[in-house]
Amino acid sequence: MKISIVVPCYNEEACLQKYYDAMSEVRARLETEFEYIFVDDGSRDRSLEIIRELAGRDCEVRYVSFSRNFGKEAAILAGLEAAEGDLVGLMDADLQDPPEMLLEMYNGIVNEGYDCVGCRRTDRKGEGKIKSAFARLFYKIMNKVSDAELVDGARDYRLMTRKMTDAVLMLSERDRFSKGIFGWVGFKIKWLEYKNVERVAGKTKWNFRKLTKYAVGGIEDFSTAPLRFNNVVSLLLFLAAVGFAAFDIVWACLGKFAGGGMLTLFIIIPVTLFLLSLLFFGMVLLGEYIKKIFKEVKARPVYLVRETEKDAALSQTAQSEKNEKSENADAFAEVAATRNEP
Ligand code: UDP
Ligand code: MG
Repeated sequence: MKISIVVPCYNEEACLQKYYDAMSEVRARLETEFEYIFVDDGSRDRSLEIIRELAGRDCEVRYVSFSRNFGKEAAILAGLEAAEGDLVGLMDADLQDPPEMLLEMYNGIVNEGYDCVGCRRTDRKGEGKIKSAFARLFYKIMNKVSDAELVDGARDYRLMTRKMTDAVLMLSERDRFSKGIFGWVGFKIKWLEYKNVERVAGKTKWNFRKLTKYAVGGIEDFSTAPLRFNNVVSLLLFLAAVGFAAFDIVWACLGKFAGGGMLTLFIIIPVTLFLLSLLFFGMVLLGEYIKKIFKEVKARPVYLVRETEKDAALSQTAQSEKNEKSENADAFAEVAATRNEP
């Protein structure tokens, strides 16, 4: 078995060596093959030099370096595409994702049968109050309007099986919102909770403007709910037109129309409202087709398979091999014990 760990890096010269040192300890405790995939996302500092140096010293270090800064989403995609492991992990370079949790993640997949083990912060310590409030609001809205389940506080830090990684890569959309994609593909996920850790060095690459763009982009990518705005406006305008017309009729029956000017006004208003509601209804119709185009252009898979009878047969063979091994080990232990008898 091989584990690949994808590490997007953008101007992380202050963190990279610390990250590598901390990870080396964890790596030593994993009895599998291993590879790091550092993705240098067009860093302008010494990040690439450090990564090159690491790759020169350690043959388990691989890297991809971008021609410019394309953003973390692009870095994640490049890393996942380059990863060759049976298990693929995703981790930040700033040690905000505690490396030792990787062992628990590995255990969750190999021994507990999960397809993915992710990490969830239970607090937002060290983060501004306004930023936290907006983040919470974002998760609430996103879960209401999209079919991708998002977990509040979930980080990108996760370990996935090859099957889930391939599923994530099957979503070939260019405008990528990984948090949504991970939720969209489904599979059995276990969440490990931990208290927020602040980055070991350097500064966050996110400011309020970038975060807002990220959040709005996420909603656009995973929901057509904003198009419903036209439905609401069209309906409101229609109701207003009907209300006004009814008012006109009652007013006319009561014989309260004073003069020509007022009459014109009382006719023009409901007619205008009605025409406007028709206009918005036209946009609703357009929206319906745009929704379809949106779906087709994204070309997401219609379904994803988690298991077939072939997998069941495979896991049975693996289980019996495991049992055989442990029986052999028991027999060996017995023989060893009898040999040691006086
Ligand atoms: N990152 C990246 N490209 C970017 C911005 C960030 O590859 O354009 C990487 C960054 O180097 C880090 C991870 O994404 O490894 C998370 O970034 P950061 O720590 O700034 O985000 P935060 O943890 O504050 O959400
Ligand atoms: Mg960070």
